[in-house]
Amino acid sequence: MEQITANFGLSLTAGPKAGQTANRLVWQRAGIVLGFIAWLALLGAAAWVVLTFVPDQFSWQLAGHAVALHDIHNKIFSNAGLLLLILPSVFWLEVVMVGWKKSSLHQILFALTPSIKTDIAFLLMDQAHLTGQLARLMMLGLSIVSGEAIQAWLAAHTGFSISAAALPLAVQVVLYFYVYSFFDYWAHRVGHLPWFWPLHRYHHSADEMSVVNAERIHPAGFVGLFFLNIPMAVLGASPEAMIYVNAATIALGYVIHSRIDSDFGWVGRYLIQSPLHHRLHHKLDMSTPTGHFSMAPIWDHLFGGWGGKAHADMPIGVDTQYRHGFWVMPDLMRDYFDFFKGLIGRRTLSPSEKTP
Ligand SMILES: [Zn+2]
Ligand SMILES: [Zn+2]
Repeated sequence: MEQITANFGLSLTAGPKAGQTANRLVWQRAGIVLGFIAWLALLGAAAWVVLTFVPDQFSWQLAGHAVALHDIHNKIFSNAGLLLLILPSVFWLEVVMVGWKKSSLHQILFALTPSIKTDIAFLLMDQAHLTGQLARLMMLGLSIVSGEAIQAWLAAHTGFSISAAALPLAVQVVLYFYVYSFFDYWAHRVGHLPWFWPLHRYHHSADEMSVVNAERIHPAGFVGLFFLNIPMAVLGASPEAMIYVNAATIALGYVIHSRIDSDFGWVGRYLIQSPLHHRLHHKLDMSTPTGHFSMAPIWDHLFGGWGGKAHADMPIGVDTQYRHGFWVMPDLMRDYFDFFKGLIGRRTLSPSEKTP
């Protein structure tokens, strides 16, 4: 009962009225759980319809040319998986933990702020595949380098080849989550170097945490993209394991940006990052160095960054001005040019940027 009281932000006093309120909260929670189960059942039914009635390959004649679409099921599932399964699951988890009124979903639907609008703009840009196109343009094609191609090249030219395909998939997923988070830790630290900071700064510019804040990533943040899937492929992750590791890191990315007021105890100390520790990473006050870079805290313990105790009301953000709102291009371009200005020594650092 105490848990429910805390989660829904209502105080219970003794007496019949308190009993009614408690009952209402139990029903509310049961409704949230049942609603989610119904949602999953609906998704299952939709997946069955796609598998049964939508062909996986399709070709037709267009003005004398044969046009073909391949792998249609996978395309549908990978697009829908994020918007219909991973994101709603984390929204749901947050509502269960913090209550409807404090949740990111409530804010998105009923109380939009400029900062949340920016996060939604990034989510939509990603879904419209605009972020990928912008990344290709801004990274001058670097983002299309494929890990599998490098792995094949290494095997052919140096004989170097590792494969974990013989391990059970669940073991591979856990193993490569830690491989992924190791490289992500270093990529993230590089993002905090004064040179690369303008490309990572946008992520930190949010002035309030929200599940969708995880989407706010500058398309030119190539440090991240470049370092992650390539080493995983070279170190022998099967494409199947990579899909699950990517799904898990996307889900965890949403969770650590949520408003769940928890440090996850020892799990958050060693195994996976907690929302409160990620909040500490987003702290506005950069007079002391930033820590908590990794989705797997073990890397912060080993290589630096594990810091003090996190708390839910720590102010977050950056001291660089952002306009926020749905129209994100001016800020995106400013940060992109700031990066190049930094390369040629034409960018002056604000005090906070010296230890971002
Ligand atoms: Zn960061
Ligand atoms: Zn973050």
